[in-house]
Amino acid sequence: MSFRNLGLHDEIVQAVESMGYENPTPIQEQAITQILSDEPQDLIGLAQTGTGKTAAFGLPLLHLIDTSNPKTQGLVVCPTRELASQISNELTQYAQFMKNLKIAVVYGGTSIDQQIRAVKRGAHIIVATPGRLIDMINRKAVKLENVEVVVLDEADEMFNMGFQEDIDNILSYTPETKNTWLFSATMSKEVEKVAHKYMDTPVEIAV
Ligand code: AMP
Repeated sequence: MSFRNLGLHDEIVQAVESMGYENPTPIQEQAITQILSDEPQDLIGLAQTGTGKTAAFGLPLLHLIDTSNPKTQGLVVCPTRELASQISNELTQYAQFMKNLKIAVVYGGTSIDQQIRAVKRGAHIIVATPGRLIDMINRKAVKLENVEVVVLDEADEMFNMGFQEDIDNILSYTPETKNTWLFSATMSKEVEKVAHKYMDTPVEIAV
């Protein structure tokens, strides 16, 4: 299976080819096939770092964004600022041939004003750590009512770090109709609990 055969938009296929990716990794093939199927669904992806999991959710997320609509349609929540900045950089590379696609990154430990300005300029996708995102929601700097996809990346790590309540809170600002894609290295009790609470008969893929 090639990236082209998975049904991704041309601009996205061009980007991965220009980055030297020849074929999708197993988690990418499974996730993208499922997400681009006729029946998009909630998804649990069990995969370690290094398996290509960022592109597994990043490529189909970019594929689903309507760039003619300036509202935030995709939200990626992850445990650390290093990871947030890495995901945002990777998405930016995958979106290099998409016109007007805007990504904003939101994490703590640095000036909030700059991040508020970036979101105000319009962000189709926000990549965030939980605490700062809540702060921005409380300041009405982030609106999540048009979000269609929420990605919870390294969900097991987020629960280990005690972000459960923050994630509950964040998800309560997103529409019922969104799809949730949860990625985790392990299927812990906590992950299973959340999967049941927030997800609608999720499809599980594992590598
Ligand atoms: P990740 O598991 O998302 O941290 O990705 C691990 C590394 O693999 C990253 O540096 C990616 O740029 C790279 N990568 C992801 N997908 C592919 C692919 N299909 N072919 C080659 N390299 C890839």
